[in-house]
Order: sequence, then structure tokens, then C-alpha cells
Amino acid sequence: MAGEPVIPVMRPWLGPEEAAAAADAVASGWVAQGPRVKAFEDAFADRVGAEHAVAVSSCTAGLHLALVALDLEPGAEVVVPSLSFIASANAPRYVGAEPVFADVDPVTQNLTVKSVEAVLTPRTRAVMVVHQAGMPADLTELRALCGRHDLALVEDAACAIGSTHLGAPIGAGSPFVVFSFHPRKILTTGEGGMITTPDAAVADRLRALRQHGMNVSAFDRHRSGHVVLEQYVETGFNYRMTDIQAAIGLVQLTKLDAIIERRRELADRYAELLAGHGFGLPTDPPWGTTNHQSYVVRLHGDVDRNAVLAHLLAHGVSARRGIMAAHREPAFCDHPHGPLPATEQLTDHSLILPLFHEMTTDDLQQVVAAISCA
Ligand SMILES: *Cc1c(COP(=O)(O)O)cnc(C)c1O
Repeated sequence: MAGEPVIPVMRPWLGPEEAAAAADAVASGWVAQGPRVKAFEDAFADRVGAEHAVAVSSCTAGLHLALVALDLEPGAEVVVPSLSFIASANAPRYVGAEPVFADVDPVTQNLTVKSVEAVLTPRTRAVMVVHQAGMPADLTELRALCGRHDLALVEDAACAIGSTHLGAPIGAGSPFVVFSFHPRKILTTGEGGMITTPDAAVADRLRALRQHGMNVSAFDRHRSGHVVLEQYVETGFNYRMTDIQAAIGLVQLTKLDAIIERRRELADRYAELLAGHGFGLPTDPPWGTTNHQSYVVRLHGDVDRNAVLAHLLAHGVSARRGIMAAHREPAFCDHPHGPLPATEQLTDHSLILPLFHEMTTDDLQQVVAAISCA
């Protein structure tokens, strides 16, 4: 199929509405963090049922700030899955803490109470659960575990906007839930992230931390009509989202329901057509629904995954390897860890098939045809 267009693994759903909203922000003269960021935070908090939402420049920045706000002592341990994008494992290192790798469930790809308990020590202070590929983790059990051991639960919900747990959207009910708006995720602002928290004082601190530790924002100073002298109350960062990004995010948020509905429709179609081929396919867990941020297909251990990826590409389908494992990367090569058998099985023997809002039934059938003869 040389010369034929390749079906991408993901394509963001952006249109003239986003372009117009960004142009409006530019025309307004307020292009850095301002009124549109505030409006995006309010709309986002409302959509996920959270008390407070704090916009940041990326999910990675949000994970960093959540861990700063926990005031961990040097050497404190944060349990994370190795099976995740590298940002989950990097975040504890930013604050001088130790990421401790726990294994995952071989079907949901998420941390479990058992896998977390296996790596707890007297130095464990927090658990970072990742809703991998949008699959909601078993939060009821994990929250109970964190309650028993006095641990903070941070949800890496980079992929999980629009997924649900016990009928409620992911985004409330834990001390910190952190989302991504990278184009590879469900909603995009180019780059961007959001932290939700139930605690007003924590939200205020996060707002200061994202702007150099400053106790008053440029927007609030502008609005006040008085001379306001700011203070720098602690060492902060520049992790601000821009109003241009927030303008796009406000439009994207109105598309969320349609995006989830379409992704779940396409995933159902994949499940129908791929049934009986010996693949492990993503399905909703008993406690929630997935947004199918990535359609991860598990292969038999004796299948050469990389050969399947090459075969797909030769047939005009751009697939990807499954979720990476941080403990296999050079940045963590001298980092100690226990056995991670499910993580290693998943990272070696799974792949991600194309799934995006504007994908057609013909596209999907082409993918199915290609993988069925691999
Ligand atoms: C994409 C992703 C991130 C990083 O998100 P950015 O917004 O690009 O910083 C973190 N964790 C997980 C699980 C991700 O998939």
C-alpha cells in the first residue's frame, strides 16, 4: 500500500470553533494566564464534580505540584506502576522522593491493593495510581488501603477524562487528581494539564506554586483596582497555562460527551470484529467505564509483537507498542525493584490500535483486516 495514507493511531478532534476561540483570546490582548484559564477551571471542575480545579502547563507539571503539596521528606517512598508513561515515575524524583514500582493487574493494567501492599514500607507516604489508557482503577479498594496506612492517594488521570467510577466521573474523591491535555489524550489544548482537589487551602497553594510562589495572580491584581504588592511565599515554578490554551480547552470540553460516545462505539465495533482471534481486548471493569483513550490489545506470549506492528504499518495502519515500563529504561536502570511479571508481560506483548473521533467504519475495517492476517 505504498503511497496510501496511513491510518494514524490518534488524531485530535479540532475544528474552526477552537481556532476562533484561540483567535478571540489573541484579539483580547490577554494571552497569558487570565480570565479564560479561570473559566476553564470552573467548567472543568463542574464537569468532573470536583470542588477545585487548578490549570497547569502539563500533567507532568501537575503531578510535580501535587507531590510538592504533600511536603514529603527526602527519601519518602511513592508507590507508582512501572507500567506507565515515564512521567509517573519521574514525578517523585522531582521532589527528592523515591518511586517504588508496584506490579499491575494483567487485565486492567492498573495497580491493585495486593500489588501495592507487596511494596509498602515504613517510608511509604503516597500512592500514585494511574488510570492506564483510560481504564478506571479500583478506587474504592485503593482509597481504603490508603486510609488504613495513612497514605496520600494521587490519581494520574492523564488519560482518564470522561472515564467513570461507580457512576461518577474520574476527577473527584481523592486528594489530587491530575489530567493531561496533550494531543495524544482525549481533550487537547496543545499542551496542558489540570489538578483537582477537594481542599480549598491546597488549591490556593497549588495556584501560588504554579506562578513562582506568588500570592496574587496577575489577573486578580488587574481586577482589584488598587495597588497590590505581591509576596513570594515559597519556592514556586512557572507552570501556568495560557489563555489561548484555555480558550481551546473550553471548546474541547463541550465535545467531551460526543468524543466518549464515539470512542466507545468504535471500541464495541473492534470487540465484535476481533472476537475469536485470541486477543485480550479492553472491557469495562465491574466498578466503572473506560473512555478507551488507547485501545490496547494483548497478544499471546508467543506472538512477535514488533513483527505485528511492522505488518500493520505495511498495510497502512500506524499502531504502537503497548504501555512502556519505566524500570526498563536507562533513566531507571540502577533503580531497585521487586518482580514485575504482569508489567513485563504487558509491555512486551501488547499493542495499541488506532482509535480517534473522526475514524470511519472503513478505517476500522482496514485495521481489523490487517491485524487478522498478521
Ligand atoms: C501522557 C501522560 C502523562 C504526561 O502528560 P503531559 O501532559 O504530557 O505531561 C503522565 N502520565 C500518564 C499516565 C500519561 O499517559
